[in-house]
Order: sequence, then C-alpha cells, then structure tokens
Amino acid sequence: MKFDQSKALFEEACNYIPGGVNSPVRAFGSVGMAPIFAKESKGSKLIDVDGNEYIDYICSWGPMLLGHSSDIAYQGILEMIQKGTSYGIATEIEIDMAKEIIHAYPSVELLRMVNSGTEATMSALRVARGYTKRDKIIKFEGCYHGHGDALLVKAGSGAMTFGVPTSSGVTAGTVKDTIVVPYNDLEAVKRAVEENKDEIAAVIIEPIAGNMGVVPADESFIHGLRKLTEDEGIILIFDEVITGFRVNYGGAQKLFGITPDMTTFGKIIGGGLPVGAYGGKKEIMSCVSPLGGVYQAGTLSGNPIALSMGLNVMRYLRDHQEHYDEIEMKAIRLEEGYKKCIQETGIKATVTRFKGMLCLFFTDGAIKNYDDVIKSDTELYARYFRAMLQKGILLPPAQFEGLFLSTAHSNEEIDYTIQATREVFESLVK
Ligand SMILES: *Cc1c(COP(=O)(O)O)cnc(C)c1O
Repeated sequence: MKFDQSKALFEEACNYIPGGVNSPVRAFGSVGMAPIFAKESKGSKLIDVDGNEYIDYICSWGPMLLGHSSDIAYQGILEMIQKGTSYGIATEIEIDMAKEIIHAYPSVELLRMVNSGTEATMSALRVARGYTKRDKIIKFEGCYHGHGDALLVKAGSGAMTFGVPTSSGVTAGTVKDTIVVPYNDLEAVKRAVEENKDEIAAVIIEPIAGNMGVVPADESFIHGLRKLTEDEGIILIFDEVITGFRVNYGGAQKLFGITPDMTTFGKIIGGGLPVGAYGGKKEIMSCVSPLGGVYQAGTLSGNPIALSMGLNVMRYLRDHQEHYDEIEMKAIRLEEGYKKCIQETGIKATVTRFKGMLCLFFTDGAIKNYDDVIKSDTELYARYFRAMLQKGILLPPAQFEGLFLSTAHSNEEIDYTIQATREVFESLVK
C-alpha cells in the first residue's frame, strides 16, 4: 500500500497549517506515521488520495451514523443551497430542529443552536454559572468536552487539589474554578462538593465516556450523581455530543432513566455538517440572551443547510429506531470477535462496549476510569493500527478513541475486520 500522495500533501500542508492539520488527532502522531488524506467516501468506505480504500471506523468521529455520503442525509440539500445558504435573520427550520431535539429529549425545554460541540459545552457552563450565581465547576478526568479554557484541565497531584491546565495559554485564574475528579467515583464528587459548599455551579459529564476510549458510567454512580447535584442545587450537564442520537434516539439519559438539568449536543445532529446545540429546563435556559443576562450568540448559528442535513438524519432515525438495535448487534459481533482473538492469541487486551460504541484497549483488567485507561500499551496500539491500515481497515488513529459503526457497515466487513485482527495479533505476540 502506497501513501505517496498523502505524504506530499502533508509536507505541503505543514507550510501553511500548524502541524499540517486543523485538528490534532488527524496528524496520526500517536500511531507513528504520516497522516493519510481523504479523497472521497461512500457508505462504510473511505478512499484516500492515493486511491487506497478502507473500511472506515472513524466515521468523522461519530456523525456518519448512516454511513458516508448518505442519500438520506443529502435529500433536498442541493435545492436548498440554490435558495441561499445563510441569512443572518431567523428561519423556520430552526424551529423544526428545536422541536425535533426537544421531542427526543424531554429534559430539554428550550434549545439554542451553535456551531460545534465546544461552543455547546462552553455556553452551557456559562448559563449554569449565570443561573446559579456560582463560579466553580466539576469535571471528570478523561472526559473531553471540547477545547474551552475551563475544560482543558486535568487533576493535580493529590485527590482534592485544583486542576492543572492541559494546554498552555489556559490561565491559572481559569483553572482555579475547575475541579477535576475521577470518573465513576461518587465519593470523590461528594468530597469536592463538601469542600466547596455552595460554590459549585455545575457538574459536567459524558454519561458514557467516549474520549478515553469507551468507559460507561456505573448505574449507581450516575444515579448517585443526579441525587447529589439535585440536593445541592448544582446544575447537572450531560455532554451528549457523542452519545446523543448515537446510543439510541433519546441518548444516554433515556437509557439511564435520568433527567439532567442541561444537555449538550453535536456530531450526529449535524449529519456531517458543523453543528452543536445546548438546552435544558426552561427556567435555566431563560437566562440566555435576549431573554436573560447570559450573553451567547453566533453569526452562522442555526445555519439552514447544516440544520437541514441534520434534520434529514434525525427524522429518519426517529422513524427507524430499529437501526439502533442493528448497530448494537454489529458492535456485539465485533466485540465477540475481538474477545475471541484476545483469548486465542493471548495478547494483553480488553474490549469495552456500550450499545454501538466500543473500544479495544491494550491492557487487561477492569476499565472504570482514566487511571485504568492509561495503563494501555499505546506503542502496541500504534503497531496494530498500522498493520490494520495495510489490510484496508481505518481505525481511530489513537488508542484512546472509540470505534464508530454505521448502518452501512456489513457483517461481512466486520468479520473481515475480526479476521484481520486475528492475523495482526498473531504477528504482534510473536
Ligand atoms: C467531540 C466532542 C466535543 C467537542 O465537539 P467539537 O464539535 O469537536 O467542538 C465535546 N464533547 C464531547 C463529548 C465530544 O465527543
């Protein structure tokens, strides 16, 4: 397999774009090779600029639930573009989108559209702070909520110290208001709340962590978190940018039977175009400008083309919820296959799965939090990734990312992926 065109484009890109990419994971840094450049895609397949064809398990990091270049997503889009792409004043489709999300998420009574998941979480936190008149927030180690300053923080030394920035350029002042606790550890949250009595505005969480591989929340933990935040007047924000419309039509909150105060969305709700959204209880969302004093705006927010594509996908999913079971069955097929490969080759690895989200970690033992996740052998993952790429399978180019499936992935493709995995594992354990 040749990557000459990709290599040439990467060299050129580095002259004009920091690191040659517009989002760090695309640099393939953690799998030790130059990035590949995409040319086109259809269904489960992605073709790079050298003409190599892959079964794609990135799926644009989640939005392509119906596969690439889906006729369902594209319906009516060209006609719409001919009428105009952005007006700077209100459009009817914004109501349609709000209604569609609110219908699927009873916890959401008012909804604001933005342009990315990052904007959604940043805005939700601002609203939570404005509503509670409190400054501090709690986040969980290993959860990713986009690149807002207040969220680029990891735990400091000692369980209860304030976090430290994970990015330069994030100020000490910002970090001082973010408390980082381990995922699935209710006692740690209780201690943090106790030590900052009446100062915590919000707890933000991925109800199924999908940015440190895949780590589901324990039932008792997530229900305990709802009770604790309710008792303490703290806004519970479910970041469903990944899980929303992916794990099922009503998201992780429906599966857990939990009503969060606020929810953030992204990825699938744009059907492949740049979209985000945040919403929640009417009382809380009434703080948002122009109703209330929390300012938040966007020149291209609620863009009609992006919303139209997202709506095409969401309406289809609403009427075809059987696809969620279908995707889960495929994920189970892959999980079972992985487990067999692990057993039969003796490679040190573990699979986690929740509904249609799954991850292969090169470590053994239970995976409950970030400390468990980072025990993984990332060098081994890099070798696995490169060998699989040679066999025409594009996996996430980093150990700590989940695999994404779509309705377009066939059982044959999954079986081929398992067979390829077995061969690669055999060569890796030698
Ligand atoms: C992807 C993601 C974000 C950030 O969304 P962007 O559109 O990349 O800004 C936020 N939260 C979660 C859970 C995500 O997976």
